[in-house]
Amino acid sequence: MPVHVVGNVCVDTTFRVDRFPQPGETFNARSHMDGVGGKGANQAVAAARTGADVRFFAAVGTDPAAAFIRERLKNEFDLRQLSAKPLPSDRSTILVNQDGENLIVSGIDCAADFDPLRETGLLNLIAHGDILVMQGNLKSTVTNACLRAAKAASATTILNPSPLSGEALDLAAVDVVIVNQGEAFETTGKPDPEDAARDLVRRGAKAAIVTLGAAGCLLLEDGAVDLIPAVKVAVVDTSGAGDIFCGCLAGCLMKGWRLAQSARTAVAAAALAVGRRGTLEACPSRVELEKLMN
Ligand code: ADP
Repeated sequence: MPVHVVGNVCVDTTFRVDRFPQPGETFNARSHMDGVGGKGANQAVAAARTGADVRFFAAVGTDPAAAFIRERLKNEFDLRQLSAKPLPSDRSTILVNQDGENLIVSGIDCAADFDPLRETGLLNLIAHGDILVMQGNLKSTVTNACLRAAKAASATTILNPSPLSGEALDLAAVDVVIVNQGEAFETTGKPDPEDAARDLVRRGAKAAIVTLGAAGCLLLEDGAVDLIPAVKVAVVDTSGAGDIFCGCLAGCLMKGWRLAQSARTAVAAAALAVGRRGTLEACPSRVELEKLMN
């Protein structure tokens, strides 16, 4: 049974800089590099590398950037569900300073225009026992419609509503909601992760996970809280840790694992990613994930 990841993909251009520029300032970066990113693509790759049968639904343009995206993802999963639009492919510019902090600006013409229910076969492909994974990059009306369609088909739904748009997402159609600590606070107004998780469940989610960076994550399921500690690691770059966590969690759930066991494995996978540079480049390989999962 497949894991359907519905979301966005973009070309990330990462500039390594000594420091972030001031308004109006121009200086040269130490290095720059193009890669493929976007929360949807990151999560889809992580899920696929757990061995899950991943279908990735996202929109690209018809420009050279789209060819670059297809080339980079073609060995990860089937690309038949990619929608091609007469628009520039989505792009992010990422500045990383010497402390590993980042600044990101994204252009999301394709994601903003993407309606998977209208443009792809999602509705016919999603079935009982499947898993749907979504993020916050698509229009909230589109995200809600996909989540509801998946529930109507008796699929399991995972929502990582990042980046937050401020628009309401239908948590009653969500089995597992995953937010980081900042998003938990922004969404619920509750600084305590357990209070925030309880609030997300009160709003309709069946279970809630608040990821806590170097402190691991908090899982609230069936009224009980489980605090799962992080794996200790020398931190190189934390960008995308949450995406690796979400994708890996979906892959483990597809194996029929319990949520707590899946979250423990996702924490271990995210720690591997945090010890390396990049986002997709830092994603554990199939071999590494197989070892973690055995
Ligand atoms: P996001 O990347 O969405 O901001 P977090 O920072 O909470 O989310 O990270 C997601 C997961 O990645 C955490 O739950 C944890 O398992 C792992 N992680 C993040 N930072 C570290 C760290 N410094 N050491 C070990 N694991 C980490």
